[in-house]
Amino acid sequence: MKFTLLGTGTSTGVPSIGCECETCTSDDPRDNRLRVSVLVEHDGSRVLIDTSADFRQQALRHRIKSLDAVLITHCHADHIFGLDDIRPLNFRHGALGVYANEPAWHDIRRIFKYIFEPSHYGGGLPQVVAHTVEHGAEFSLAPALRVTPVEVIHGRLPVMAYRFNDFAYLTDLSEIPARSLELLRGLDVLVLDCLRLRPHPTHLWLERSLEYVSELRPRRAVFTHIAHDIKHARDASLLPPGVEWGYDGQELSDE
Ligand SMILES: [Zn+2]
Ligand SMILES: [Zn+2]
Repeated sequence: MKFTLLGTGTSTGVPSIGCECETCTSDDPRDNRLRVSVLVEHDGSRVLIDTSADFRQQALRHRIKSLDAVLITHCHADHIFGLDDIRPLNFRHGALGVYANEPAWHDIRRIFKYIFEPSHYGGGLPQVVAHTVEHGAEFSLAPALRVTPVEVIHGRLPVMAYRFNDFAYLTDLSEIPARSLELLRGLDVLVLDCLRLRPHPTHLWLERSLEYVSELRPRRAVFTHIAHDIKHARDASLLPPGVEWGYDGQELSDE
């Protein structure tokens, strides 16, 4: 199993447009964060989580030539606005399976109405095969790649986290319900939302993220969806052993 963090930034990306803070002007490439997304690779299968607003750039940077599926966490702009850019993959490999929960599909069909109710011919539309996922309803993307959708709460919105064998990806959440915690035990790698140091109404912040790490006790925890409040090197000392700030391009593997 390998996770590649394609983006680790909050919804604006880091640097934030017009900002001249210490992080936004940093020379450290780890302080440059595209919008969150992760590539999951296992036994020849390749799965993308979220078509972020930076998907085109991420696909080019990591030379993504094909995908077996796209899993969506939720339909906020930073996670979904790259959906149109799956078209070059469609041209070469045909329609792509996209997995999301019911609330996300409701919004995807509204926001990307032109895909599902085309009003003109031509122009190359994304080819999407829609699948609906439900909390705890495991499915297989390949014989060796089982996926468990796990519901977490993002303010008031039910968002999907995903577990792949002993790896899990949980972004954009303020709460993990008890029934979901039970599906996240015994993890090797946990990638977890951690927006900043100060509290936030719809995201985890440092204190809350660390509480969930102590509760779930993964071998390794890596934080993502990071705002410009966090400067990678400066703020590494805020984290206990086994916990890290993620950065774009980081590879997490059990090999
Ligand atoms: Zn987000
Ligand atoms: Zn969100």
